[in-house]
Amino acid sequence: MKIDNKALREAYALLEKSTPLGRTDCGLVCDAVCCTDACGDSMELFPYEKELLKGAEGFDITDGEVPLLKCTGRCERDKRPLACRIYPLFPLVATDENGNEKVRVIYDPRATAACPLCAQRARLDRRFVRAVRRAGRYLLTDAESASYLRKTSEYIKELIELEAMLKG
Ligand code: SF4
Ligand code: SF4
Repeated sequence: MKIDNKALREAYALLEKSTPLGRTDCGLVCDAVCCTDACGDSMELFPYEKELLKGAEGFDITDGEVPLLKCTGRCERDKRPLACRIYPLFPLVATDENGNEKVRVIYDPRATAACPLCAQRARLDRRFVRAVRRAGRYLLTDAESASYLRKTSEYIKELIELEAMLKG
């Protein structure tokens, strides 16, 4: 698969082999729920992925402000989109006290309901966490990807605040 955008290419490569529990297949814990009922019908695509994955077997892409991918619950591993590669984490963009942007890897609150690792705040493989952080940094070097990452980060921060408020 030829990926023209450099930032996306680097992000894909970093997350080609890294998985949440390293050598252990976390799909055994939950019967791979994230590939079946949980998010198989609502994955947001990052910039440039729509063009990249269009026409790939088993993928159905709905266009919109943010394109969504629906899959059959199975895919060729090297074609899985970035949302699946980083799941259940997210490279959150935050600004430090000096106004510099940092990438902080967090459990994606949108994964809490489906993913047992996320729900239990399990300790994940360090290489996976590092790969998600580095992928986030690469994406920040591309204007369109950075814009998507910032926007989604703001949305996720709002979700986290809302969750905290509801918990009291
Ligand atoms: S839902 Fe979580 S534990 Fe289950 S396969 Fe997906 S990432 Fe792994
Ligand atoms: S695209 Fe692949 S990795 Fe992602 S949810 Fe579907 S089957 Fe799972």
